[in-house]
Amino acid sequence: MFVDSHCHLSFPELLSQLPQIREAMAAAQVDRALCICTTLEEFEDVHALAMGYDNFWASAGVHPDNEGIAEPTVDKLLELAARPRVVGIGETGLDYYDMEGRKGGREVSDMEWQRERFRTHIRAARTCGKPLIIHTRSASDDTVAILREEGEDGSAGAAGGVFHCFTETMEVARAALDLGFHISFSGILTFKTAADLREVAKFVPLDRMLIETDSPYLAPVPYRGKVNNPSYVPYVARQIAQLRGLSVEAVGELTSRNFEALFSGIQS
Ligand SMILES: [Zn+2]
Ligand SMILES: [Zn+2]
Repeated sequence: MFVDSHCHLSFPELLSQLPQIREAMAAAQVDRALCICTTLEEFEDVHALAMGYDNFWASAGVHPDNEGIAEPTVDKLLELAARPRVVGIGETGLDYYDMEGRKGGREVSDMEWQRERFRTHIRAARTCGKPLIIHTRSASDDTVAILREEGEDGSAGAAGGVFHCFTETMEVARAALDLGFHISFSGILTFKTAADLREVAKFVPLDRMLIETDSPYLAPVPYRGKVNNPSYVPYVARQIAQLRGLSVEAVGELTSRNFEALFSGIQS
């Protein structure tokens, strides 16, 4: 009934617990998950999950925060995207959060390599027709501008995709929706401090909404601060259900249908 549209089950803290996590998923009616790739080096581990279990799928991409790793080319991404059970390109995007602490005091102008890497992913996605999984933090203006420049404005030939783990403003949500993208909410939606984000979740059309854990990070209340896993995604659905006056089952169903529509490669 529930789909976790974004998780990192290849990370050691989750992979080492996989049998227990799969049991917990079944008990919580989380019947499918998309395993997200963050480096080329990690791809085979992510892909092995998708090949090993018929309710897991994989993406191919390099996260904007990762440095000192193999840089993807369009050809390399296309080669990986052509492998069986790879249904999306990402996660990719831009992350300018805490330039002082996390980026060694570099400036946004020094992040051209991130913007180039993002363009590489967009070009690959548009060539293979698979949707983009977009990570954007403190960088929404550039994210939206680059998508538009690369032709991802919802017009014919657009790959489309999802703004994952959405934490941005209503204005950014509107821009993403205007570009034809879906919006995915994580456990952050359940945090006490996320009142503004809950307003966004009241606004996003029900046919453009996904849910995710982004596990092992960002466990929803009541597990906040613990290691997250896909079996907790119903807590995100429950929060949306409360906000929209729906049953949790209805949110599980509609986000599952949206997942199937966006990641149409899961059908093949
Ligand atoms: Zn992310
Ligand atoms: Zn992620």
